[in-house]
Amino acid sequence: MPVVRFAPSPTGFLHIGGARTCLFNWLYARSTKGKFILRIEDTDMTRSEAKYLEEILESLKWMGLDWDDIYYQSKRFDIYREHAQKLLDEGKAYKDGDAIIYKIPQDAKIRFFDVLRGEIAVETEQLKDQVMMKSDGSPAYNFCCVVDDALMGMTHIIRGDDHIANTPKQIMLYEALGFKPPKFVHIPMIHGEDGTRMSKRHGATAISEYKKQGYLPEALVNYLALLGWNPGTNKEMFSSDALIKEFSLKRINKAATVFDINRLSWVNGKYIKEMDIETLMRLIVSSLKEKEYINDDYDKEWLRGLITLYKTRLPTLEHFANLASFFFVDKVYYDEAAVKEFLSTSEVAEYLEKFKQALEKIDPFEHKVIEESIRGLVKDMGIKAGDVIHPVRVALTGGTVSPGIFEVIEFLGKEKSVARLEEIIKKIVTRMRIFDKLKEL
Ligand code: GLU
Repeated sequence: MPVVRFAPSPTGFLHIGGARTCLFNWLYARSTKGKFILRIEDTDMTRSEAKYLEEILESLKWMGLDWDDIYYQSKRFDIYREHAQKLLDEGKAYKDGDAIIYKIPQDAKIRFFDVLRGEIAVETEQLKDQVMMKSDGSPAYNFCCVVDDALMGMTHIIRGDDHIANTPKQIMLYEALGFKPPKFVHIPMIHGEDGTRMSKRHGATAISEYKKQGYLPEALVNYLALLGWNPGTNKEMFSSDALIKEFSLKRINKAATVFDINRLSWVNGKYIKEMDIETLMRLIVSSLKEKEYINDDYDKEWLRGLITLYKTRLPTLEHFANLASFFFVDKVYYDEAAVKEFLSTSEVAEYLEKFKQALEKIDPFEHKVIEESIRGLVKDMGIKAGDVIHPVRVALTGGTVSPGIFEVIEFLGKEKSVARLEEIIKKIVTRMRIFDKLKEL
């Protein structure tokens, strides 16, 4: 039975690269009916922190990456000491103060098999003696990693290729301890757009940050799976179940991949579009409450309708609160360029006034009725619909982009729409008066 593991160190948050490594291990285990072990590599007592551990576990749960077993290296120091002692007793290691060090045999060749790269061979001359137990009593990574991977029965080590230089050292230790080495799969790194290794410079790296920004776990899993693995077809949308069905180690790409936030947002938008409205609403409500856009007794029916209106235009959940903010706040943020272009002539003030008067008479205040009435108005005035609709959109929403304006007006309601138009008309008129006065001078 295949046994694999993800072995994070709780010295930082779970980042995109780690999450993908974990996902590939998890997919391999689930697709082969194997076992997936989570091993917390918390040997560095000064750098490991409970908050990181919590965050890592939370992020993994959020992504749906469940584990069959969990181990903490900090609880296994006795085991490591015992194995180091064994090598010491056999004369394969020596002591330096309290540290125990493995003596690299000279003139030997180490070979190991990488599933993606084939056989790799290294001369032992190139390696230095390896610390197994440090003088403070804690084990060194290469040593406890081997002891655990062997004792826990790993069949495959799937990890980032930043560890490839460690692998020959680990192979030596497998051999010294009399364990059979597993197969290795070193997966290429994730790069930023500029071709260097993905880091904070390229944007958010922590999984928790993506959650905060309104990405869905299904979308992130889908995107990360395709970041370095390909199904061999053009298929782009994969549920976890579909990934489990199709995943294979052989289809992991050999070259580094570039993290593309726009692609992730596109995938995320697709998931949001297809999400069931009640679930979507629950997720959005909490962010609206946080922003104090709504409180506990909000109009459910109204919000459901509004979210339905927006759900095809949301790259992330957070976009809803941003794009639709003008429904919730009294002080609309006006885009300066839009105001200049659409709300600066006395003609426009006149159009808006007529539009406003038409709105006041509309009953029932429904988008179809509103549209009919406005189409009639425009015809009577002998102007193009756009001549009034563009200014109205800026006046009501603050910008030039929104869903259909008549739906927007319906959801905004008669009172708010009229009040907002009135306010803008007043502003334009005042500004025109000032301009006229200046001209007189
Ligand atoms: N704790 C190591 C890391 O986070 C694990 C490396 C490995 O998978 O062997 O890089």
